[in-house]
Amino acid sequence: MERIETLCVQGGYCPGSGEPRQVPIVQSTTFKYDTSEDMGKLFDLEAEGYFYSRLQNPTCDHVAKKIAQLEGAAAAMLTSSGQAANFYAVFNIASCGDHVVASSSIYGGTYNLFAVTMKKMGVEFTFVSPDCSQEELDAAFRPNTKAVFGETIANPALTVLDIERFAAAAHSHGVPLIVDNTFATPILCRPIQWGADIVTHSTTKYMDGHAAALGGCIVDAGNFDWMAHADKFPGLTTPDESYHGVTYAQRFGKEGAFITKATAQLMRDFGSMMSPQSAFILNLGLESLHVRMERHCANALAVAQYLQSHDKIAWVRYSGLPGDAYYAAAQKYLPQGSCGVVSFGVKGGRQAAETFMKHLKLGTIATHVADARTCCLHPASSTHRQMNDAELAAAGVGADLVRLSVGLESREDLIEDLEQALRTV
Ligand SMILES: *Cc1c(COP(=O)(O)O)cnc(C)c1O
Repeated sequence: MERIETLCVQGGYCPGSGEPRQVPIVQSTTFKYDTSEDMGKLFDLEAEGYFYSRLQNPTCDHVAKKIAQLEGAAAAMLTSSGQAANFYAVFNIASCGDHVVASSSIYGGTYNLFAVTMKKMGVEFTFVSPDCSQEELDAAFRPNTKAVFGETIANPALTVLDIERFAAAAHSHGVPLIVDNTFATPILCRPIQWGADIVTHSTTKYMDGHAAALGGCIVDAGNFDWMAHADKFPGLTTPDESYHGVTYAQRFGKEGAFITKATAQLMRDFGSMMSPQSAFILNLGLESLHVRMERHCANALAVAQYLQSHDKIAWVRYSGLPGDAYYAAAQKYLPQGSCGVVSFGVKGGRQAAETFMKHLKLGTIATHVADARTCCLHPASSTHRQMNDAELAAAGVGADLVRLSVGLESREDLIEDLEQALRTV
C-alpha cells in the first residue's frame, strides 16, 4: 500500500527498463496508425490509444493518473483550467432544463459560471449556505436536480464544507456530490473518503504551486451508480448517437463512464485540453506537494495567530485557529492543516485594507493564491467585483476582507512584513 507522499513523487508514471525517468513530454498533436481500421476502433471507443491531443495525450494521462491515485479515485482527466474542470464536471450530467444545488460559498469565477453563463444554457442553480439547516438543504432539491456542488475550503470565504452531510443529502436524492478540492488538495483532505463522487481541481493553485501553469482536473471516485438512477442521467445511461450508440455506463461501468463521456463528448466538442508542457510542469509541482502543503499550513497558522493578536485587525478567519467558526469542521476534515490561505479584516474597512496592502513588501498584490510566494488580494474590488453587496455577504466575502495567501518564505520575515505594513494604517 503506497502512502500519499510516495504517490506524489512516483505515482502515475512507471517507466520500463531504459525508459525516461521523468514523464516524457509528448509534444505531438497527432499519432500515426498502420491501418485505417486501427484508427477506426479508436474513434468508436472500441480500443484504447491516442489519435489526437485534443482528446487525450500520454503526458496528460500520466499526470491525471497520479492525481486519481492521490484522491483515491478510479479515473481522472486534465483540463486547461479549473474553470473548464468545473464546467465539464457539471455539464457532463446537467444540461438544458436541469437543476443543480450549489453551496453559496464558492469561488467567484465558479459562481459566475453557474449563476450567469450556465443559466443562459438552461441549467438552473439553487445556492444554499454551507451552514444551512437540513430542512433548507432538502428543500433546495427539485425533481430535475442532477448534482450537488461545493468547495472543501471555499475560496475566498474559507468556510469548510461538511462533506459527509452534503454527500448524504445528494445521495438521498439520487444525485452525486461534486467537490472542488482546490484549496485543500488531496494532501489535506480526500473528499471521496467522506462520500464525494466527483472531485475537481484548479491545478493552477497548490498542485502547480509556483504560478507557472494554468490547469484543472476532474476526478471520478467511480462509486456513483448511474444505472441505478438511469432516468436522471440519460447522457450516461442511454446510447450516444455521436459514438455509434455506445452507452457509457454499460460499456465503461461505474469506474469509467463519467470520465470517458467527459473526454469523448465534452473534450471533443469544447476542447479545453491541458497542453503536455503544462502537464509536465504540473507534475513537477505534484512531486513536492506533500512537502509544500505542510509548510504552507504551518506558516499560515503562525500568521493567523499573529494577526488575531493585533489590535488593528478586526477579525481573522482561518479554520485551523481555535475559536474559528469552522474549527470543529477543520478538525474533522483537515486534521493536518487548513492550507495557506488566511482572510481577515483590517479595522477601518476598505480604505485601511488598501493602505495596508500597498505597504506590504513580501506579500505582493496578485490575482492568485496558493503559490510559493506570499500574495494578497482584495476580492470585493477584484475577483468578486461582479457581485452586489447582498451577494458578497451570501458568499461570505465582506468589503473589508483581505485574502492573504501565505507562501513558503520564512514566517519571521512574513510577520515582520505584516507588522511594518500595519504600522502605516
Ligand atoms: C482558481 C479557482 C478556480 C478556477 O481555476 P482556474 O484554474 O483559474 O480556471 C476554481 N475553483 C477554485 C476553488 C479556485 O480557487
